Amino acid sequence: MSKYLILLHNTGFLEIVPKESADTAIIISTAIHGNETAPIEICDEVISEVLTQKLELKYPTLFILGNPRAMNIAKRFVDYNLNRLFVGTHKRIEPCYETKRASEIESVVEDFYQRHDLSKKWHYDLHTAIKPSQIEKFAISPYSPTNIESNEQLNMMESLGAEAILFSKSESTTFSYHTKSLYGAHSFTVELGKVHPIWNENPSE
Ligand SMILES: [Zn+2]
Repeated sequence: MSKYLILLHNTGFLEIVPKESADTAIIISTAIHGNETAPIEICDEVISEVLTQKLELKYPTLFILGNPRAMNIAKRFVDYNLNRLFVGTHKRIEPCYETKRASEIESVVEDFYQRHDLSKKWHYDLHTAIKPSQIEKFAISPYSPTNIESNEQLNMMESLGAEAILFSKSESTTFSYHTKSLYGAHSFTVELGKVHPIWNENPSE
């Protein structure tokens, strides 16, 4: 018998819920920019290992593929940068694929955090940098009035390989700001390094 309840909500939304109770609800999002493929591969591996029971998932987790259409055409976005459309910003610009997608993501997130209204909420929005950067892997902590992060989260970022954490000083319209400002989640935009084509065996190219 499976240890998990598995729900596929819609294109790009997979929720895996352990049958045992938990105190943390996690969202892991990838491909908010469609050509940032390394995080998609990481999530694919994690999900496979959970489903084949090589890895145990302890907390209800929602995996999101942000922009499937842009993924299919290997572009950052189709019509509009999706990561500028959260916190309801999608309602204020001309409708396009990404405004529709931002609205879908916001409602699945709302539903997930309502059903799993647990004491801790985490959201890691995984990206890869477009340009080479001096610090290859880093995390951005979206603005909050206190801008304090727990040691638990700072350690988590370190274990993800982040060499630095930037604390944003202003409100924004990114996905990680959305979950932090509306749900009090411990949210980060995590930059995992340079973009490589999907399934590239030789990432130094
Ligand atoms: Zn990105």
